[in-house]
Amino acid sequence: MPGCLAQDLVDRLLEQCAPFAFPMHFNERANGLAEIPAEAHAIAQHEHPHRLLVTTDTGKRFDVAAVLVCSGAGAFAPQRVALPEAAALEDRHLHYAVRDTARFAGKRVVVAGGGDSALDWALALRTTAARVTLLHRREGFRAADGSVAEMHAAVAAGEMDFVVGMLGALKTEGDTLAGVDIRTRDDVVSLPADELVALYGLVSEPGPIAQWDLDMRAGRIVVDTTAYETSRRAIFAAGDIAFYPNKQKLILSGFHEAALALRRAYHYAHPEKALVHVHTSNNATLKEKLTHA
Ligand SMILES: Cc1cc2nc3c(=O)[nH]c(=O)nc-3n(C[C@H](O)[C@H](O)[C@H](O)COP(=O)(O)OP(=O)(O)OC[C@H]3O[C@@H](n4cnc5c(N)ncnc54)[C@H](O)[C@@H]3O)c2cc1C
Repeated sequence: MPGCLAQDLVDRLLEQCAPFAFPMHFNERANGLAEIPAEAHAIAQHEHPHRLLVTTDTGKRFDVAAVLVCSGAGAFAPQRVALPEAAALEDRHLHYAVRDTARFAGKRVVVAGGGDSALDWALALRTTAARVTLLHRREGFRAADGSVAEMHAAVAAGEMDFVVGMLGALKTEGDTLAGVDIRTRDDVVSLPADELVALYGLVSEPGPIAQWDLDMRAGRIVVDTTAYETSRRAIFAAGDIAFYPNKQKLILSGFHEAALALRRAYHYAHPEKALVHVHTSNNATLKEKLTHA
């Protein structure tokens, strides 16, 4: 089997889907899931006894017969500062990303973290901020050697500071940040600061799907392997988000799970129709569609 990179696989799959021209929606998050009471639905109850409403963060609403959740590791979110004062300062004086460097002009900024982002932003902000202090729990970094060397050179030139230690407390004055307490190996050091940029990397969270009232285990959705249906009727899960004994997180497994889930989902969408199983290799209509797309 020749090698195939992830993007190539995605491109080839999109190419294969194209002749079927089903609608796709990108860059939005499935947020809500609710049952639609049968009496509220336009379609006669005997044909479609069970409908679901999926809503997205852009306000779209999908009235569907079944849902297949393939949310993988979930949505990525920044690893947050685990201090009681942090939540109230978030997005005002505590930042998990730098979106506008002008916001830090003339400010005393602490950049916490030891990866490429922390080093890159500490170096970049030193030209506009009043003072930048890079804070990391150890001397070593998980970042490009060139950036580490550039940071040490900037510290030696007096352009910024580097402190080895961990955030111990955030000091506030009213609703603004006044400074941070840093726990070093032997002491606690207080540093005045106006803005804190914490770049500790990303963690995956199940996101809104965790609120869908599905049986979950260790952040994943429990499925019955007969059809990869979850604990709620007509809601299926496939891929890395699906949990069952001996599950292997492989692309191959996701394809198999999705195929079986969609066979059952078809019955929910078309309870009056029989499912006909065909292969692309010997079904003339399907072959024609894929060949002449
Ligand atoms: C480093 C690495 C190498 C790997 N190499 C291989 C390999 O060689 N072969 C192999 O078979 N497998 C490999 N795997 C495993 C493989 O990548 C996974 O099994 C596969 O990507 C799982 O696909 P998925 O669709 O379930 O999840 P994902 O690929 O994680 O995709 C889930 C998608 O859902 C989106 N999402 C999450 N929540 C929502 C929401 N609420 N609304 C809308 N979208 C949402 C996410 O943003 C994401 O785009 C590798 C994994 C890693 C980490």
